[in-house]
Amino acid sequence: MEPQGTGDVRRAAVVGAGQMGNGITHVFAASGCAVTMIDVSADAVARGRDTIACNLDRQVRKGSLDAAAAEAALGRIATATALDAVAGADIVVEAATERPDLKFGIFADLDRLAPAGAILASNTSSISITEIAARTRRPEAVIGMHFMNPVPVMQLVEVIRGLATSDDTTQRVMALARALGKVPVEANDYPGFVANRILMPMINEAVYCVMEGVGTPEAIDTVMKLGMNHPMGPLTLADFIGLDTCLAILEVLHAGLGDPKYRPCPLLRKYVAAGWLGRKAGRGFYQY
Ligand code: NAD
Repeated sequence: MEPQGTGDVRRAAVVGAGQMGNGITHVFAASGCAVTMIDVSADAVARGRDTIACNLDRQVRKGSLDAAAAEAALGRIATATALDAVAGADIVVEAATERPDLKFGIFADLDRLAPAGAILASNTSSISITEIAARTRRPEAVIGMHFMNPVPVMQLVEVIRGLATSDDTTQRVMALARALGKVPVEANDYPGFVANRILMPMINEAVYCVMEGVGTPEAIDTVMKLGMNHPMGPLTLADFIGLDTCLAILEVLHAGLGDPKYRPCPLLRKYVAAGWLGRKAGRGFYQY
């Protein structure tokens, strides 16, 4: 049966099955799209699929989705471990590890493997969409589609236009984000865009406060929660995002804007070097 799709997208592919990739796959499938989730790691694909099943089930228990719709959504998801599974996709959303060289390679491959008319979107938190697009022969069809974590819950999608992104691509992706039940906001392509340009300096400063002994992680998070009405303290949020991802974003801000105010805190580097990557590793500023 032809998938019903959402807007002008019937078939999507998502590259990366980690916390963001499986969340993006979840929302596409729940909106009626056939979606293929691809990861180099077969383990990550299996874990990603389990996470989606678990999260759909939670939505059913909460009453926000009926059981038949959840089952149908799961049935629209295919998985793969090689990029050639993007053949036939109307849009590819890349959500692989936040490393420029990795994303540049993936986009050069996607340009070869995805259909000529397909949009190539990146969920990057900070890497230049213009630079990613330059690795393809279709820079007008390359765009940032920055979902927030956890994807099924968070409303925002930051839509980032690279230098060459066309109006048509932008309009189609804005409409797609709305069809997925999200609120899209357009941003231009500068390091960190809007979300992480503002968020990461705050997280980094919180890490400096830990390093300098200004307060314990619990104290710092409580100040920001109760004092500033943030739903989650910055160190809890950093653990949730992944400390490797936070460090990678700060490196992009530091290199791209050249201002020492973005220099990553040495304690953040130390935690990442130790493999204390936050919630996904069982340990970061807190233990899980
Ligand atoms: P993650 O570590 O949970 O998952 C990354 C996945 O990418 C892993 O499963 C890995 O095996 C896979 N991968 C690596 N190389 C690959 C390749 N060549 N092809 C296919 N898959 C590959 O990371 P994440 O938190 O899901 O982040 C993914 C992207 O989303 C990053 O660009 C990150 O900046 C962005 N992002 C993250 C958050 C967040 O809160 N974590 C929020 C918004 C955007």
